[in-house]
Amino acid sequence: MTDYQDLGIRPLVNAFATVTKYGGSLMPPEVLRAMNEAAGSFVDLAQLQRRVGDRIARLTRNQAAYVTSGAAAGIELAAAAAVLHKHPEALKRFPDIADFKDEAILFRGQRNPYDYSIQAVGLTYVEIAGSPDNFRAAINERTACVVWFPRGQANTDDISLAQVIAIADEQEIPVIVDAAAQLPPVDNLWRFTEMGAAIALFSGGKDLRGPQSSGLMLGRRDLIDSIRPISNPNHGLGRPFKVGKEELMGALAAVERYLKLDHAARAQYCEDTVRLFCETLNPLAGVCAERAFPNEAGQPLPWCRVTVDAAVLGKTADELAQAFLDHEPGIAVSPLNEAQFHLNPMTLNPGEELIVRDACLKLMG
Ligand SMILES: *Cc1c(COP(=O)(O)O)cnc(C)c1O
Repeated sequence: MTDYQDLGIRPLVNAFATVTKYGGSLMPPEVLRAMNEAAGSFVDLAQLQRRVGDRIARLTRNQAAYVTSGAAAGIELAAAAAVLHKHPEALKRFPDIADFKDEAILFRGQRNPYDYSIQAVGLTYVEIAGSPDNFRAAINERTACVVWFPRGQANTDDISLAQVIAIADEQEIPVIVDAAAQLPPVDNLWRFTEMGAAIALFSGGKDLRGPQSSGLMLGRRDLIDSIRPISNPNHGLGRPFKVGKEELMGALAAVERYLKLDHAARAQYCEDTVRLFCETLNPLAGVCAERAFPNEAGQPLPWCRVTVDAAVLGKTADELAQAFLDHEPGIAVSPLNEAQFHLNPMTLNPGEELIVRDACLKLMG
C-alpha cells in the first residue's frame, strides 16, 4: 500500500487550527471503527440518512438533523431549503430561481468566503450594515432567508442573533446560522436552534473529529425534509454533495463521542500547553508569548500569541512560520502578521506539545 511517505508527503504536527488545508482534524478510533463497520455492507442509503438524522436530532435536542458533506455544502442546502419549503416547484430550477424568493440577507461584518455557497443556489446577496432598522428595511417579499455567522467578540454589527431571530420570525423568514467552527462549546449543537434559528450548520471535520467530508444540518424538520428530493441518492442541486454510508455512521459516532467527551479535561490540556509554550518562549531574546482567549474562531479555548522582534531574531513571524513547516517533523503554526503568529493547542495530539516546544527552542532560541 502506498503511504504519505511514498508520495513524498510529510505528515505535519498541527499547531494551527482545524483548517481544511492541513487536513482539518484527526478521526478518533471510535469514528474510524464506525466507518470501517459501515463499509462492510450495503444498505438503503436514504433510510440510513433518516435514521442517523433522527438519532443525531435526539442527541442534539433538535427537531431534525441531516448529515451533509461539510458545512459549506450545508449552507448551500440550507439556502435551497429556504426557497424550497415555500416553493417546492423550484426543485428542478436551481440556480434559476428568479420566479421565487431569491434574496438572502447578510451582515456586512460577517461576510466571508463561504457565502459563495448561497450565491451558487441562485440567491442574490442583500448585504446590510447590521442594525434592527436596517434589517427590517431590507426584508421584502423576495427575501428567502437571513444568514448569520457567529463571530464571537469579532462581531462588528450592531444587532444580535436574538434580535435577528425576533424580527425574522415576524415575517416567517428562516434564520440560517453558519456555526461550522463553533464547537466547542458542545451546547452550541442546540443553543442556536433553541434560540429560534431555523437551521444551524456545523462541520463534521473540525472539532467534532468526524469524517473530513461531513457536516451537520440541525433544525426545522420541514426545511430539512424539503431538500431530500434534491439530495443524494436523489438527483438535483444536492447530488454532488454525496454523503456515503461510511460518512453517515462516522458522523453519528463523532457526535456520540463529542457529547460524552470530558471537555473540562480538554480545556485544561489547552491551558497547560499554552503555559508550557509561554514559559518556554518568554526567556528567549526578542520573543514575547502570551495566553490569548478565546481563539480566533471564538471557541472558548486559549491559544498562545507569539510576538517576535525580527531585528533580534533575524526572522519575521512569516519566515518563522515557514521554518516551522520546514522543520522535521513539519509543524503548522497559525500566522497572523509580520510580527505575530499563534500556537494552537486544540489540534495537538497529547505529547506533540513537546515537539512544538523543542522546535521553538531550536528555531527561536
Ligand atoms: C470551516 C468553515 C466552513 C466550511 O466547513 P466545511 O465543513 O469544511 O465545509 C464554513 N463556514 C465557516 C464559518 C467555517 O469556518
